[in-house]
Amino acid sequence: MSTLGVVGGGAVGLGVAWRAAEAGWSVTLFDPAIGSGASWVAGGMLAPLSEGWPGEERVLEFGAASLARWPEFAARLEQLSGVAVFVADETLTVALDAADAADLRTIAAWVGGHGHDLQVLDRAGVRALEPALARTVRAGLLATAEPAVDNRRLLDGLRKACVAAGVQVRAEAVADLDRLDADQVVLAAGAASAGLRPDLPVRPVKGEILRLRHRPGATPAPRRVIRARVHGRAVYLVPRDDGIVVGATQYEAGFDTTVTVGGVRDLIADAEAILPGIAEYELAEAIAGSRPGTPDNLPLIGRLTDRIVVATGHGRNGMLTTPLTVDAVLGELAGSPLPDARSADPRRFTTPTASVSSSLGGIR
Ligand SMILES: Cc1cc2nc3c(=O)[nH]c(=O)nc-3n(C[C@H](O)[C@H](O)[C@H](O)COP(=O)(O)OP(=O)(O)OC[C@H]3O[C@@H](n4cnc5c(N)ncnc54)[C@H](O)[C@@H]3O)c2cc1C
Repeated sequence: MSTLGVVGGGAVGLGVAWRAAEAGWSVTLFDPAIGSGASWVAGGMLAPLSEGWPGEERVLEFGAASLARWPEFAARLEQLSGVAVFVADETLTVALDAADAADLRTIAAWVGGHGHDLQVLDRAGVRALEPALARTVRAGLLATAEPAVDNRRLLDGLRKACVAAGVQVRAEAVADLDRLDADQVVLAAGAASAGLRPDLPVRPVKGEILRLRHRPGATPAPRRVIRARVHGRAVYLVPRDDGIVVGATQYEAGFDTTVTVGGVRDLIADAEAILPGIAEYELAEAIAGSRPGTPDNLPLIGRLTDRIVVATGHGRNGMLTTPLTVDAVLGELAGSPLPDARSADPRRFTTPTASVSSSLGGIR
């Protein structure tokens, strides 16, 4: 049996380890603190359509291809682990002013032109769906095909699936990929990946996020993911069984995961502008993590050497893009790269024709 070493036990590494073990590899996963990285911190939105914007075709198509894989991925995970991961079925982006309402129509038209359905709603339409939202909300964009997952249940399910599939776990940090005793190696160390392969253009992008717990008598949490822009800042609310996740700030701050007063203040103020009732919730947790960012907002998935495959750089979309990443890595290990993952080929940064933009847009 061929041996595989997986470096990093976030959603990506755990997903790869599980499915590779099922495919017949003898898998060892290395991580000194499994599930403690960005995957533990995340909001759990799966929203490539609502995040669409003219000019970002490759990001849209990559995200949509992974979204299409989520139902089967989640069903297999639940079958094996007993863990159900979905917490919402739909995503509603709302506008507070005329400029944001115009942006929603732009997104609907552009994403619609790529074959994905989004519905523009007026004020009454939004209120009919989510009556607890602020009266200042004037328009909405409904994505009926965009669910959300509980990221921590996902990690729990993936760990159980790994155990069930026979993955060996070693609570160790890997310092040198060349010294790993395995036929093949998958590098999935998130924002820390460039520490092991300095040629990879991955950098940490800090994000702060809050967990609010519902208290008796408080306004019920929205049933859908709610996304908005307040004072030019992005904010989102993702339902959980016991409340709401409010995210997220975004800074270029190196590997700093300190939660700042200013970050918490802005998140609470912006969330309250959308859902006034959150003031009655318990502030249960404030946490920060490092998104693994790349220059063009697409991940790095593919073969680096005869022995090393990389799966990192998932930025603000790593929950969304885990199922496609897992399929792409399995395809690479089997010698048949997946056409859907071509735009994530890490060689795009090392060829003369590589075209990159420097923005890190979106609201995760
Ligand atoms: C605030 C915030 C909100 C987000 N919201 C969303 C969202 O709503 N939707 C979405 O799709 N995505 C979201 N993301 C992005 C998503 O969380 C990440 O893209 C995703 O978790 C990356 O997964 P990963 O497995 O690559 O990395 P991680 O989860 O960071 O895991 C990397 C693992 O590698 C391990 N490691 C590091 N170095 C070594 C080493 N030398 N040896 C062994 N192991 C090592 C670490 O211990 C860690 O467990 C969000 C991120 C943040 C920070």
